[in-house]
Amino acid sequence: MKKNSYFIKVYGCQMNEYDKGIIKALMTKKGFIYTEKNYEIIIYLTCAVREHAVKRLKGNLRSEKKYVRVVAGCLSEMLKENLIKEKLAEIVVSPTAYKVLPEKIEDFLKTHENLFISGENYESYEDIIPEVKGKSSYITIMRGCNNFCSYCIVPYVRGKERYKSYKSIRKEAMALVENGIEEIFLIGQNVLAYRWEDFDFISLLEEISLLPNLLRIGFLTSHPFDLTRNIIKRMSNIKKLIRYMHLPFQSGSNRILKAMRRKYSIEEYLDKIYFLKEIMPDAYISTDIIVGFPGEEESDFEKTIDVVKKVRFDSAYMFIYSDRPFTTSRLMKNKIPYEVAHKRFETLLALQNKITKEKAFETVQNKPIEIFPFKKKGDMFLGKMWNNRIVAFSGQVNEKGLTPVILKEVRGWTPSGYSIINKEENK
Ligand code: SF4
Repeated sequence: MKKNSYFIKVYGCQMNEYDKGIIKALMTKKGFIYTEKNYEIIIYLTCAVREHAVKRLKGNLRSEKKYVRVVAGCLSEMLKENLIKEKLAEIVVSPTAYKVLPEKIEDFLKTHENLFISGENYESYEDIIPEVKGKSSYITIMRGCNNFCSYCIVPYVRGKERYKSYKSIRKEAMALVENGIEEIFLIGQNVLAYRWEDFDFISLLEEISLLPNLLRIGFLTSHPFDLTRNIIKRMSNIKKLIRYMHLPFQSGSNRILKAMRRKYSIEEYLDKIYFLKEIMPDAYISTDIIVGFPGEEESDFEKTIDVVKKVRFDSAYMFIYSDRPFTTSRLMKNKIPYEVAHKRFETLLALQNKITKEKAFETVQNKPIEIFPFKKKGDMFLGKMWNNRIVAFSGQVNEKGLTPVILKEVRGWTPSGYSIINKEENK
């Protein structure tokens, strides 16, 4: 076991993946060494969105007693000192207190006194450049959420919305690009809510996209309520934009959307999607759907199915509703029996899987397309299209920038083909 060495295990969304880079930067400054083997300390970046998360985390904590166990992320805010009382963790740290984490770990290594570290709700890690490897990076531009959808735990564990300043986002993006990053995703619970002095989200996106040597820019996640025709039009004019939009609709029934406190009707949602498809026909559109929300009747579910058929999403994250702590939906009476919800889920899953596969086949065309390679897997490369669809290909890649690829088939779910560069010939 190497002294002062640590490993970070990430669960959940991109926000945690980004925070891994923040924690790494802070730990490096204090002399800690990141390693994937023989470490002394393990940091869990946890997610509270799904019900089974607590069970899974506790299982892992029990089996990894030999390490100094640090719990960070959303579950630390939900479970707080309880994890220490249950002897499942040595340190629990709130997502807004990472700046003091390295020194608190140092203290622990000397004193062996367990502790819960709470943070300041306004922390947005303005002045820290995350430590990342590879060609792609996230930048968290906002944290928290003000929407309080009735089923969602995020506002309770991540707090109210706060935004990073334009200046610090730009500084961070420039530093990342200087370190070889070619692709940046601006992320937050609802990036469209971003506000900083004169900047709203779309002006931020336009400005950052202009950075020299940045090849591609994308963003995640958007609330349909905040998406406007004007934003869609301006997005379509950004040359470097990754044409990928994740727009959760959750239910096709207005009655259920109201109970979810989603602030839009399904007609408004569809209007925005159709406009998006018209302006950016090549965009990859994904969504989130909840099945079995309290009070959901068969006719409500049929409406969800109808939306899936109409929009033909490229992919969807589908979930069976579950009660989460703090939320208002957990107090709703008319809960749907699990068997009923599960049956609906299976129907939805089969339909979406069919569409996802058909969409993958539509990608296969006998002409070269520009691919952003990001990983080698065996003798194949994985890369992303301009709309972020992942493809696999053989042959050679350009070390920097894009590689022209011809896709010829679909393997499993992934369009695959071959690169048409030949470095020997080009010499
Ligand atoms: S918009 Fe709704 S679902 Fe998304 S994070 Fe905020 S409260 Fe949760």
